[in-house]
Amino acid sequence: MPTIETLGPLRHICHASGGCCQGNVAMLKKTEEAQVQRQAQILQIPDPVHDGAIRKIGGSCTFLNPEHLCRIHAQFGEPNKPTVCKQFPLVAIHTEEEIRIGVDPGCLSAWKTWKDGPQIQPGALISTKNPISQQLRQHEQKLLDLLSIEGATIYGVIEKITGNATQFYQRWSKHLQSVPLIDILLREGTAPIFQEHLSPIALLSNESPPTLFSLPDQEEWVLESAQRMLYLRFLSKELTPHATILLCLGGALACSWAYTEPSTFGPAFAAWNRAIRSNLLLKTLLPAPQTLAWLVGQD
Ligand code: SF4
Repeated sequence: MPTIETLGPLRHICHASGGCCQGNVAMLKKTEEAQVQRQAQILQIPDPVHDGAIRKIGGSCTFLNPEHLCRIHAQFGEPNKPTVCKQFPLVAIHTEEEIRIGVDPGCLSAWKTWKDGPQIQPGALISTKNPISQQLRQHEQKLLDLLSIEGATIYGVIEKITGNATQFYQRWSKHLQSVPLIDILLREGTAPIFQEHLSPIALLSNESPPTLFSLPDQEEWVLESAQRMLYLRFLSKELTPHATILLCLGGALACSWAYTEPSTFGPAFAAWNRAIRSNLLLKTLLPAPQTLAWLVGQD
């Protein structure tokens, strides 16, 4: 039997943002597909299932109503929602050795209660298979240690990974202004939460931006999110653990340049952490293998 592991206490309170039903893939258990089909028929929603997941329209779940509420929840009650919806933002991945459980840092309100919210009991969760080689496991562990060391800072972690954090900040800012991020955000099918929270990043001016992590809690949350992104293996398998961390921390920098208030930074950083799971956005941010090398100063 695999062991159940977590990075720490699982703390969270849902703030019913409706954001979890956008830009996410809601995979169904085989046994749930028929139930979802029946519910959709009663709600007069056509073709609700696509490739084993709930169909999305314009980047949002087909069951989400204009008030950002779930029609299945409203009509049939919370217990009759698909398991993946009931368990969000809890995520479980099954490596060959253990089942890792965590709270998704891509939840728009996770930043509010990650530190002192009530502890949640995971119960039985849907887990996705995600085997990890020993070599990858060791790389991941080194980075997890670096991110969780007492007194760790975003600058310090980037400095350790790239050897020159200042240069990374400058190149990353220049790079964000040069990629067609706004085109991707505004295209049809992009989830509204991405358009809303990430457009200010795509429109950053080309003045060299200051770095604003004035609140220790904010910086701690960024480092915690980066650990979760790695631990729960939220990024493309083609990216190394180091690249995963740089993209996550780079997103935190970009969010800090675009948003100065924690109440706007928090959802934007969550949206970033969810958006970079999309191949389209990843390819826009890292269009060629040498892009990352350039960003870390290997030119
Ligand atoms: S079924 Fe309901 S809870 Fe699940 S993703 Fe769709 S709108 Fe959200």
